[in-house]
Amino acid sequence: MRRLHLTLRRLVLLGGVLILLFVGYAYLRQRPQDLPWTDLELAQPVGLFTGRKLAALTGDTVRCKALLDQAGIDHVAMKPGGADQCAYADAVRLKPDAAAIALVPAAVAPSCPVVAALRLWEWQVVQPAAQRIYGQPVRSIRHFGSYSCRRMYGRSQGDFSEHATADAIDVAAFVLKDGRQVSVLNDWKGGEKDAAFLRAVRDGACDLFSTVLSPDYNAAHRDHFHLDQAERGATGWRACR
Ligand SMILES: [Zn+2]
Repeated sequence: MRRLHLTLRRLVLLGGVLILLFVGYAYLRQRPQDLPWTDLELAQPVGLFTGRKLAALTGDTVRCKALLDQAGIDHVAMKPGGADQCAYADAVRLKPDAAAIALVPAAVAPSCPVVAALRLWEWQVVQPAAQRIYGQPVRSIRHFGSYSCRRMYGRSQGDFSEHATADAIDVAAFVLKDGRQVSVLNDWKGGEKDAAFLRAVRDGACDLFSTVLSPDYNAAHRDHFHLDQAERGATGWRACR
């Protein structure tokens, strides 16, 4: 009798595990963005591995540009430039697109993985947050530039910044459809709506960029969000501050 009980219990346990596996599999099949081995598609919602997949596009320029094309992101590939620590090979410039957020100044050409993440950020984070908080979309993003051959914090020694390979952009402000500007410098500690908007877009950027540094990090970032796609290998650690 005792043995029969044990066998029954094992069967019930096994059945439970199988059901869980089946439900898990069915769920994840609907959410390829949450699986590490599926191909990235920019039209998919942001998932657990979207950020790592974007960063992994560094060094796979062909695939990155194909993703931009597939998603209908109109762009011009720049010729490789720079030298040594400051060489870049995958910079792209977004073409003006009335349906998309404009980067101001327009003459900026970040790396392809940064551009891909910027558009994803726009579609899935910035515009939904703007609609929710202000009831209108963002028209343009003001930035402090992308490519700059320099070491971190402009020091004369130490690691080169991701800006040295155009793999970063510094975002300073968002201009709403009605012309109002929400800036990191003036509005991070500003009114309820502005503070909430800036934190929502900062937090959302953390799912898409390897590194996100905001005024919460240090005084050097009081007036902009630093967004980059540093490739940090298998550990894939991410910075979000
Ligand atoms: Zn920066």
